[in-house]
Amino acid sequence: MKCCHFNNILTESHRYFIDSPEDDNCVLCLINRKGPMTQEEVGEYMGLSKMRISQLQKSAQKRFLLKLIAVNNLG
Ligand SMILES: [Zn+2]
Repeated sequence: MKCCHFNNILTESHRYFIDSPEDDNCVLCLINRKGPMTQEEVGEYMGLSKMRISQLQKSAQKRFLLKLIAVNNLG
């Protein structure tokens, strides 16, 4: 399978790079292949605890919500 997102040109400095040759080093290919993942699965994949993944998820959701509010002038 070839990465259809970045034409296999991802380098380690790219934000979508993951060290996973079976996914062409592309996190989007991993998502396409595996589908939704639990916090525990993401933690195992990234070498982080389920608790740390939960913290990162909450932080990302908060930033997303704040951006959504700002973009839509709801604040
Ligand atoms: Zn890809």
